[in-house]
Amino acid sequence: MEAWEPTEGDVAWTQGVLDTLEDGQDWMEGEMAFRKTGDKELKLLTRTERASFAIERVKIVVEGLGWTLDESEAKIIPDDPMLAAQMMQAEAESWCCPKCEEHKVVNMDLEAATWHLMGQSVYVDEDGNSVQTPRWVVEIICPCEEKVYVSPDDYLLVAGEINFYTWNVDNETLRVMTPEQITECADNETLSKINAQHLGTTYEGNTVPPHLRGTFCLIVEKSPLEEEE
Ligand SMILES: [Zn+2]
Repeated sequence: MEAWEPTEGDVAWTQGVLDTLEDGQDWMEGEMAFRKTGDKELKLLTRTERASFAIERVKIVVEGLGWTLDESEAKIIPDDPMLAAQMMQAEAESWCCPKCEEHKVVNMDLEAATWHLMGQSVYVDEDGNSVQTPRWVVEIICPCEEKVYVSPDDYLLVAGEINFYTWNVDNETLRVMTPEQITECADNETLSKINAQHLGTTYEGNTVPPHLRGTFCLIVEKSPLEEEE
């Protein structure tokens, strides 16, 4: 079998993507996710099992352009969805605070997590344009006081749906209403009387995380004392 060789188009396209990447920025390509970790340094963060040929091709192209590609810490997601879910759950339970390396993320105060926009992700759309989107991270405070950041998907995995659909913002906690709650309130025409909020893209000057946009939330005020701590 002959070795695969990129076309000029492949090379030019990849060069175009690499040129737009800033340090620490992520690049999603098909079923692969990369991060620029330094000058002409790329790290493979994750890929699916079946992307093994795709990654070989990316490697050939980026190395041909003088970049290095570090695959040593890449997370390989099994093609079997059951195995993939099991692997991710087991892995999530093993995460530790990167600073103290003592406290496990699953045991931290997951309810008090806050959502933040941090940096940009780059992906290439169907027309071949590089598109930058803000990257959301979830901040969890370790008992050692270190701020631990996880991706929204990872937060859902460790904290579960109820926490995922709860938003701590400023002095308030907003919790997405269940369909049953909404139906009940609509029947009683009480939706406007109770402390509910229909979220758009911003809420009191804060950007609403994408998964909460368009939802109805109940507002739970935090006590000012709690906020002081
Ligand atoms: Zn810690």
